Amino acid sequence: MKLAKRVEALTPSTTLAITAKANQLKAEGHDVIALGAGEPDFNTPIHIIEAAYESMKEGHTKYTASGGLLSLKKAIANKLKQDQGLTYETSEIIVSTGAKHSLYSLFQAILDEGDEVIIPIPYWVSYPEQVKLADGTPVYLEGKEENGFKITAEDLKKVITKQTKALVLNSPSNPTGSLYSAEELRAIGEVCLEHDVLIVSDEIYEKLVYGGVKHTSIAELSPELKKQTIIINGLSKSHAMTGWRIGFAAGDAKIIKAMTNLDSHSTSNPTTTSQHGALAAYNGTQEPVEEMRQAFEERMNKVYDRLITIPGITCVKPNGAFYLFPNATEAVRMTGYNTVDEWVEALLEEEKVALVPGSGFGAPDNVRLSYATSLDTIMAALDRIERFINSKR
Ligand code: PLP
Repeated sequence: MKLAKRVEALTPSTTLAITAKANQLKAEGHDVIALGAGEPDFNTPIHIIEAAYESMKEGHTKYTASGGLLSLKKAIANKLKQDQGLTYETSEIIVSTGAKHSLYSLFQAILDEGDEVIIPIPYWVSYPEQVKLADGTPVYLEGKEENGFKITAEDLKKVITKQTKALVLNSPSNPTGSLYSAEELRAIGEVCLEHDVLIVSDEIYEKLVYGGVKHTSIAELSPELKKQTIIINGLSKSHAMTGWRIGFAAGDAKIIKAMTNLDSHSTSNPTTTSQHGALAAYNGTQEPVEEMRQAFEERMNKVYDRLITIPGITCVKPNGAFYLFPNATEAVRMTGYNTVDEWVEALLEEEKVALVPGSGFGAPDNVRLSYATSLDTIMAALDRIERFINSKR
């Protein structure tokens, strides 16, 4: 059967391709180290698991309201007040089946054919595909490596057209770990206000920031920017809850209502048990969140210090998330390969280390390495990468 055009137009995920190859090598008995993980290696804090279990025993096993439990929306409003100093009504919040689905519904709710969405490069792989699935047109804007992979207000002005509907901001970023400062956000925000561009602020890595810096949401900067912004966030990365599939969007009530209508015809509601777990996550102790953050920071510093001693590898030091995004062009040249993609493939075949090539994120000179795995494992992978390079110089 011929498949729909929208499905055939999807770009296959490079992450999945490399994971498939790594799994195949593992199945053949090879000792593969995969540094592609996009999720914390910690388990969900136990009080959340227990709350979810208790809720089921109490009979909370039925559908909920489509946009999520009112009590959970209140808990999210409280989180936004505590952490960002922002006041949202429950009508301005939707709970979704993960932040990914919040983004999906958002693009479905706001885009018509020909509407443009500005996506900074390097980007998280799902943004362009989700925009295309909503008949929108992704417009890419390079965040230069020398500027920590961040776009500037000046760059932004150059790509805005009459068709521009939204800008996606992801701070801290997957795949670079870069964090925008309040000043940078203010300048970008002014341009968006001037041209009435909706800001989609993906803050899923908000809690994972390092080096004593603070995460700033662009919505915090003024009441006008709050109005112009839809915040996307969730529990996957902060509370090690990727499998629970709970995320949220907060912003203009009209958009939230449209997203809720859409979700009522697709997911109905986010899984009830997960919503009860999420209630405990937001209302309970945040100590495990900070403990995980500290563990990631310690790892990041150690891995970064070791990584930059490897010949041919340079790396911008990240301020957040759990990825390093080194530039491998010199290592590729030194070892006689033509592209980073080829180099990554050879590294997997010969040294059994799986990295994610940057091409999948729109940055073909780089590779993504996740440190959401034990320090010993990462260090062993770095030894192998160094051996691979030295053996071919
Ligand atoms: N946004 C970014 C930048 C991500 O990296 C991810 C997950 O990898 C998500 C959103 C989606 O998170 P969730 O698990 O809440 O769907």
